[in-house]
Amino acid sequence: MSGAVVPRLSPERRAFIVVDPQSDFFEGGPLPVSGATETAESIARYLRDRGDTFDLRIVTQDWHVDPGGHWSDNPDYVTSWPVHCAANTGGAQIHASLADEKWDAVIRKGLHEGAYSGFEGASDDGSTLAELLATNDVHYVTVVGFATDHCVKATALDARALGFDVNVALDLCAGVDPETTRLAISAMSEAGVTFATSSEP
Ligand SMILES: [Zn+2]
Repeated sequence: MSGAVVPRLSPERRAFIVVDPQSDFFEGGPLPVSGATETAESIARYLRDRGDTFDLRIVTQDWHVDPGGHWSDNPDYVTSWPVHCAANTGGAQIHASLADEKWDAVIRKGLHEGAYSGFEGASDDGSTLAELLATNDVHYVTVVGFATDHCVKATALDARALGFDVNVALDLCAGVDPETTRLAISAMSEAGVTFATSSEP
């Protein structure tokens, strides 16, 4: 017999993850991503219009106490970076354009090392991003934010590796460098990430 339908116990639940929309990554900060302000305003608009179509709205923060060689006075911009997102400083705060959003969870990463993926972090109560998504029966995640070629890529690839359906809405992301952004999109695509824009259903 073909065509048997196995009923799902719960509808497919969706999470929206905004990666590292922190002041230090905006224009004027020590590690600016070009177009960050405009992109963050688009994310805010999207959350206003479509935020309630997601079961969980999550933000990640790079949150460094003593990240070792991740910070450098002579950064190579590959594995070492100028000092950024020091815990409890203004530069580590969510940028003003998204500061008033109601987040279901805030995931902080990189306290004592460089950490690019949100899946390396945890919320205040110690829950990892993977635990949070599992607890909430999430199947589908949309990843947006900063930067496409670093933390968005790492978060999306980890989500795929954990078995989630992952969409990266590139019109709600900004990258540091055009060439590494191109390579990041290619790596995500190979891993099965989709790239529906924010205007697609
Ligand atoms: Zn960092």
